[in-house]
Amino acid sequence: EGFDTFKLNKQLLNAIAEAGYQHPTGVQEKAIPLALAGHDVLGIAQTGTGKTAAYVLPILMKVKYAQGTWPRALVLAPTRELVMQIEEVFHQLGKYTDLRIVSLYGGIGPKTQIEQVTAGVDIIISTPGRFLDLYKKGVILTKELKTMVLDEADKMMDMGFMPQIRSVLEVIPVKRQNLLFSATFAPRVDGLAAEFLEFPERVEV
Ligand code: AMP
Repeated sequence: EGFDTFKLNKQLLNAIAEAGYQHPTGVQEKAIPLALAGHDVLGIAQTGTGKTAAYVLPILMKVKYAQGTWPRALVLAPTRELVMQIEEVFHQLGKYTDLRIVSLYGGIGPKTQIEQVTAGVDIIISTPGRFLDLYKKGVILTKELKTMVLDEADKMMDMGFMPQIRSVLEVIPVKRQNLLFSATFAPRVDGLAAEFLEFPERVEV
């Protein structure tokens, strides 16, 4: 079975084909229909399983068109390297959309990132600290956020990002879809899932 069994639009199916994806991976098979149906999802999947596209495709489908100034989806990830990899997947699979995708991370000055965000953005991928920095500076408004992803949540917790993640959760709309991905199902991830997700569907691969 191919990707055409999912309710994805032509722009996405074309980009998927050009990326060379022929069949959905296990995590994609399970998570994509659940995410498209609007469920919160807890995905236990390691790097290499195709977990990035498992949330990128539903987000691209939901956000669909460039609109307004403020982000409608936010992905938090632990490292600059991962943020850049996720951005690459968004660009690859979103190439036939007009969506404005911006990645934010520390280690460099914020000037260019601020310019990109204020020019208008649909999807933000960020490390927790840099997102909060720009939020506190008043650069990002969160009122349009409808989807939130925590990727490599276990690693973010290991790296001590829990306080920043909590701060982000306090400043985004309560009514939203949440997707949480973790390589391991540790008890601490269970705790975060209980805090962050509403009636989650669980996907394991
Ligand atoms: P990830 O687990 O998200 O880091 O993805 C691992 C690699 O698998 C990436 O290089 C993707 O481009 C690739 N990939 C993701 N989904 C598929 C698919 N359905 N078919 C072939 N390759 C894929």
